[in-house]
Amino acid sequence: MPLYKFECEACGHKFELMLAKENEPVKCPKCGSTRCKKAMGTVSTPASSGKSSSASDSSCGCGSAAPKRRG
Ligand SMILES: [Zn+2]
Repeated sequence: MPLYKFECEACGHKFELMLAKENEPVKCPKCGSTRCKKAMGTVSTPASSGKSSSASDSSCGCGSAAPKRRG
């Protein structure tokens, strides 16, 4: 099921909801208003063309913060 973004026109609350049908009635989880408009774009789209970060590896990968216990 696709996940949609909504914005409540009554209270301005933004939320995400999964809809089986696109024209399903949506209710604001915060104020209960049905005046919710669909925000632009759907969620769940991993940015493929991201920013090109400079090549710089600082971490050595040996740092383990969580202490391990043997029992
Ligand atoms: Zn609302």
